[in-house]
Amino acid sequence: MIIDTHAHFYFPEILDNIDEIIDNASKAGVEKIIIPAVDLRTCDVILELTSKYKMLYAALGFHPGDIKEMNESDFIILESLLKENKVVGIGETGLDYYWDKTYIEKQKEFFSIHLELAVKQGLPVIIHTRDSVADSIEIINGYRGKVKAQFHCFSGTEDELDKIISCESFFVSYCGNITYKKFEGIGLVEKTPVGKMLSETDSPFLAPMPHRGKKNQPAYVVDTIKKISKIKNIGEEELIAQLRKNTEVVFPGIFK
Ligand SMILES: [Zn+2]
Repeated sequence: MIIDTHAHFYFPEILDNIDEIIDNASKAGVEKIIIPAVDLRTCDVILELTSKYKMLYAALGFHPGDIKEMNESDFIILESLLKENKVVGIGETGLDYYWDKTYIEKQKEFFSIHLELAVKQGLPVIIHTRDSVADSIEIINGYRGKVKAQFHCFSGTEDELDKIISCESFFVSYCGNITYKKFEGIGLVEKTPVGKMLSETDSPFLAPMPHRGKKNQPAYVVDTIKKISKIKNIGEEELIAQLRKNTEVVFPGIFK
């Protein structure tokens, strides 16, 4: 059974068809789906969805692209929400230097607060990076052995990948873009041991081939897994079993 560790279910294109999308996921062999938040509004939407749908689980936190207008007091509310049922992680947090470089210091500060919360609550963190892997590693290095982390939709250098996978509690995941002809990170996937990988879609973004151009959904995770099985030269069944085992390590909360 497959776990989609990263799907943004609060976009209208998913919300408007949620029953169908969940049905498609089940039929494709998807057992559980983790929905990461980006701000307080999405935290609320996610908690409502996870209370309604058995296979959905929540990760709550603030996306680096959404924190510009936030302040530290928002973490007081966040911390209280982390105690809710079916919250299995913190995120997505991290650093994004691609869209806006004007508040990098604030991004770093917020990322650190998420990590402190993760230690305090004993929850794993979901990390978003864009043009910012080196700084993200520098910050999370202070938490080696203290937090479990998923570097989601990973892209970086092989050297950066080495630094991440050398830590027992850090994992990486790849999205549907690894199926695109022009994808330049095949070397990263080759280099990542299957014991350090998680599965995800980043729905509704980055639909894998042959669904490229459509809105992504958890059912399509099978196409990304197929691609990984080819790159890693490992049987699909064996890969799925390993990915599930890894998910049990990082997100034990979804198996309780
Ligand atoms: Zn995301």
